[in-house]
Parts: sequence; structure tokens; C-alpha cells
Amino acid sequence: MTRVVYVNGRYRPYAQASVHVEDRGFQFADSVYEVCEVRGGNIIERDRHLARLERSLGELQMALPMTLAALHHVMDQSIRRNRVRDGFVYLQVSRGAGERDFAFPPSGARPTVVCFARSIPLGQSAALAERGIAVVTMPDIRWGRRDIKTVMLLPAVLAKREASQKGAKEAWLVNEAGFVTEGASSNAWIVTQDGRIVTPALSPSILPGVTRAALIDAIASAGFVLDQRQFTPEEATAAREAFITSATNTVMPVISINGKKIGDGRPGTIALEMRKIFHKVTAIAE
Ligand code: PMP
Repeated sequence: MTRVVYVNGRYRPYAQASVHVEDRGFQFADSVYEVCEVRGGNIIERDRHLARLERSLGELQMALPMTLAALHHVMDQSIRRNRVRDGFVYLQVSRGAGERDFAFPPSGARPTVVCFARSIPLGQSAALAERGIAVVTMPDIRWGRRDIKTVMLLPAVLAKREASQKGAKEAWLVNEAGFVTEGASSNAWIVTQDGRIVTPALSPSILPGVTRAALIDAIASAGFVLDQRQFTPEEATAAREAFITSATNTVMPVISINGKKIGDGRPGTIALEMRKIFHKVTAIAE
């Protein structure tokens, strides 16, 4: 049983402990954690766990939320206040809370720190070890189900961060075979030199965008030709036009890819036409 949870400087009763609804851990999986074994009231391999935490934070361009000594103190207190002799201590750090935006919050945003401990009867694992456990194999798809709109958004957060540092609004993600799958938070489209509109077909690699589906209807009724197929960054760079679609952008022209101008470097006429016709076909909920 966990009685008390450390949340951002306070030890709160378990039932009342909470973080903000717009915490980036909740909305973007923008968060790291450690679980350490506790035996006889002591943390096993604490320093290795904290070294890994510090490294994980560093990979997400986050600093330790407090000194190591302070973290030791919070973990020790969580163990003591929950009267744990044998069990585990859990420590999680997220990038904090802020209005939902893929971009990192402005510097100075306070990370969220959560720590609690829980007892596990010592005999439980020993009894299991006497019997042993079964495993089954599974394809390692971590995380290959981009067709499900989950909050597994950390790769998108990091891609958009890098894009922004390179002066771009969106990142187009390229798979191992060298094809563009989609944007970090949008679907990707090009218009070929002969005026065909191209976007990758639905698969587990892309989110079935609602804007994408609505625009496909609009394209058909406006008499444009659509190919649902893969394209490479090279084909995109040589295309007549490019654009992205998403609920908040609707149709947004792309004027450069990796610093290379698309067409004459101005929003394409077909992209702008798509933007215009989009709301002619969209369904409005009553
Ligand atoms: N792909 C990804 C990865 C997205 O996050 C989004 C935006 N939710 C889209 C595509 C576009 O989907 P929609 O048109 O439904 O906003």
C-alpha cells in the first residue's frame, strides 16, 4: 500500500496526489522514470539508477530537477513515509505542464517530479522463482503502430524540436526504406510536375488523418488525380508543390524541404486550391 506520494515538493496523501492535466508526461510521454528495488529499507543500485535517469534526462535535453543529494532525500523519505522495508521506489520526471504544444515550454518551465514507494512481500518473487515463468515472443513494434492516435508522442516532440532549431515548422519523417511516412504531427503530400496529387497510402506507419480523408473526398469531387503511394525526400524536393494536412492547419503549403525551395519557393496554387475547397466538403457536427 502506498500512503504518501511526493509531488513537486510536497508529500501528499495517495488519494489526493496528482499532477496537472496538461502535464507533458500525460500529453506527450515527454517524461522519464526509474524503478529501484528496496531491500531492508535500502535502495539497491541507487547510483546506477540515478545515473541512467540523468542520462535519459540529458537525451531529452532536460537537467536533473534537483541535486542528486536532494533526489536521494526524496527517495529515502518516500520509502520511510510509506514504511517500505522490501519493495520498490518509483521516481518520474516530466518536462512539466504547459498549454499543449509540441514545442518545449519556454525555458524556466518547472519539471514535474513524482516519487513513491510500495512494499512487495519478500517471499512473492522467491515463490515465483521456485516455479519459474513462461514467456511468449512478439514482434518488437515499439512503437510501430502510428495508425493509433496515442500520446506516444515523444519522438514527434524531439523531431519537431530539431526541425524548429533548423528553422522549419514541421519534420517529415523518413522510414528505413527511405520513404517519407508523414509529418511529426501532420500528413505529407506532394504535387508532381504533371499535376498529380500524391500522399502515402494508409498503413500502420501513418496516422489516418481526418483532414487527409476529408481532402481525399474533396480532391475526387474537384476532379484532381490522386495517387496514394510512397515518395522519397528527393522526389518531394523535385515536386511542383508540397503541403501538409492536419486538423489545426487544414491544408498548409510547404515552400522548402531541407532548405531547398519547392517550385518557386512560394505556396503552390494547387495547395492553396486544396485549402479553399477543403471546407466545402467538410462535415459540420450538428
Ligand atoms: N499524423 C500525425 C502523426 C499527427 O499527429 C496528426 C495530427 N493529429 C496527423 C497526421 C493529422 O491528423 P488530423 O488530420 O486528423 O489532424
